[in-house]
Amino acid sequence: MEIEEFRCVECNEKATELHRDYSNGILKITICDSCHKPVDKYIEYDPVIILIDALLCKTQAFRHILFNTKLNIHWKLCVFCLLCEAYLRWSRLHGSEQSSDPADFIRYTKEWEFYGMFGTAALELAAFCGGVLCFLWAALCGLRRRSVRLRPLLRALLLSCYGKVLLIPAVIWEHDYSPICIALIEVFVLTSNSQAIRVTLNSSRRLSLSAVCLGLLSETCVARLCRTFSWSFLDAATASD
Ligand SMILES: [Zn+2]
Repeated sequence: MEIEEFRCVECNEKATELHRDYSNGILKITICDSCHKPVDKYIEYDPVIILIDALLCKTQAFRHILFNTKLNIHWKLCVFCLLCEAYLRWSRLHGSEQSSDPADFIRYTKEWEFYGMFGTAALELAAFCGGVLCFLWAALCGLRRRSVRLRPLLRALLLSCYGKVLLIPAVIWEHDYSPICIALIEVFVLTSNSQAIRVTLNSSRRLSLSAVCLGLLSETCVARLCRTFSWSFLDAATASD
């Protein structure tokens, strides 16, 4: 039988259990052999406190979520975040158009534009994750001869994008400060991504920040390519009319 592997949230040392179950319903939290603190104090905490600590980008909370839980919602969360992103772009596109032409209402309801936005956002996210994973693979496997497991890294990246959910309230309750809120959400998501990489690989802050910067560069290049491609597609479509 495969032994489950956990990590101490304080010192990142490996542990085989988080608590010991004695008979008569007595549970005792496991103490780390290395730092002599509880292996995972969060198993006793309320999920709201864990979420607040994750929002504050605390290393311990990230270790708890990424190593000591079986949270398997990263793909669902990824789709939901992409929907939020697509909705933001779609509302921005139509928010800039101030027309009273009734024909515009029909155009406004065209769903394919939303799906197009969703596809572009998915491509950009794939470019971001691809850029980050390629950089880390090259930096760690190629240069330092250290093995890197890409699957947990991808899970950490996708889970740490949870901040994109905040885009929805920023768009719904639109006000003068919405662009600032959206920019802050983007910075928060990138900080969260960097912290997730740092915790998963137990690496330096410099390496995780470099990986995020390279991912962002790759995402920007793909976004530019998508925009150029959509413009040339529109030009071709208007020329054929
Ligand atoms: Zn420890």
